[in-house]
Amino acid sequence: MLLRIPYTSPLPSFPPIPTTAATLPTAITAVSNFLLNARSTLILSGAGISVASGLPDYRGPKGTYTLNKEYRPIFYGDFVHKDAMRRRYWARSFLGWKGLERVRPNKTHIAVGRLWEGGWIGGAITQNVDSLHTMSRPDMPITNLHGLLSTVLCLTCRTHSERSPFQKELHRLNPTWSEFLEKLHSTPDMPIKRGPDGDIEVPGVQYESFRYPPCQTCLNNSTFDRMIRVDKDGAMERIEGDGNVPGIVKPTLVFFGENLRDEVKKEAEEKVDAADSILVIGSSLATYSAWRLVKRAKDQGKKVGIINLGGVRGEDAFWDDGEGKVAAKYKLGDGTDGVRVEFDAGDVLEGVLEVLERIDGKRANRKVPLDNSGTSRQDIELREIEIATAR
Ligand SMILES: [Zn+2]
Repeated sequence: MLLRIPYTSPLPSFPPIPTTAATLPTAITAVSNFLLNARSTLILSGAGISVASGLPDYRGPKGTYTLNKEYRPIFYGDFVHKDAMRRRYWARSFLGWKGLERVRPNKTHIAVGRLWEGGWIGGAITQNVDSLHTMSRPDMPITNLHGLLSTVLCLTCRTHSERSPFQKELHRLNPTWSEFLEKLHSTPDMPIKRGPDGDIEVPGVQYESFRYPPCQTCLNNSTFDRMIRVDKDGAMERIEGDGNVPGIVKPTLVFFGENLRDEVKKEAEEKVDAADSILVIGSSLATYSAWRLVKRAKDQGKKVGIINLGGVRGEDAFWDDGEGKVAAKYKLGDGTDGVRVEFDAGDVLEGVLEVLERIDGKRANRKVPLDNSGTSRQDIELREIEIATAR
């Protein structure tokens, strides 16, 4: 099977929707109208919103694919089957983890949390594996579409555990690497390339010497007796050729070429089905699993909003009038029916919050949770609000 990384080149920009939303203040007005006239909006966020926290995105101006044409994410099949690829992955991930632990939410994560608190959005789905939404707003329900970096799981017994103790094990098994990591952090001008998944690339490093442990539950399970071979320190023995053995530990994030877990896919679809509009922030939707959620909303006749610096995959499909042009109701509207703006999501949402809090207040009964139970949804009176100026 040939797997291609989708859209590693920047996607073309898209004209603003409505056409008046070409400046930051008018974009804020349009997004405010979009949220005010929706019953329950679902946020779908991507790597673009974590750039301000120091994590690179994939396809932005300083994105990993843009700057490093050689960059290849790890493929699921390689990780599962090849011992050498696991050593490479864990080495890079080991080196990047300390920096990742220090990453903090930025104004976009905070704004999303405030929108949820104020009842202007019903919930959120993120493609990001950095836990920053949860760090910023622990009580906001979030679907982590592509999993998380902060937890690991065993591919055999499916035991989940925290990443931090696993990192300690990696330190213990790799003392030379541990020293190298110390040096790395005390040498600020070391040529490091950090990837969006927290891994880092250091030129000239031999990954083959890196050691990783198997799942302890599987190691102690007599069913797998002698199938998992460890050295005297408890590290996995080198496996030549096909290295598909029991007890392989993997971060819970979804690797390239890996299917989403059924329950996560279902949860995301249920959120789309329960919302009446979807607002994409900081994503080019290049990943099909994210794009199809927006398409699903569109096919159900729901409203679509996009705040992203740069183009979005196949976005004509969201605005088409049936003849290959952007429909007049979007172009000439005020943002109520759909919005597409190219600004930093944090700048836009901070402005939007100012508007919403001023004219709509924090009405608790606006809060419409995204679920299908049908009982917790309250009918809310929608007001057509003319916003003269956002700022
Ligand atoms: Zn296990």
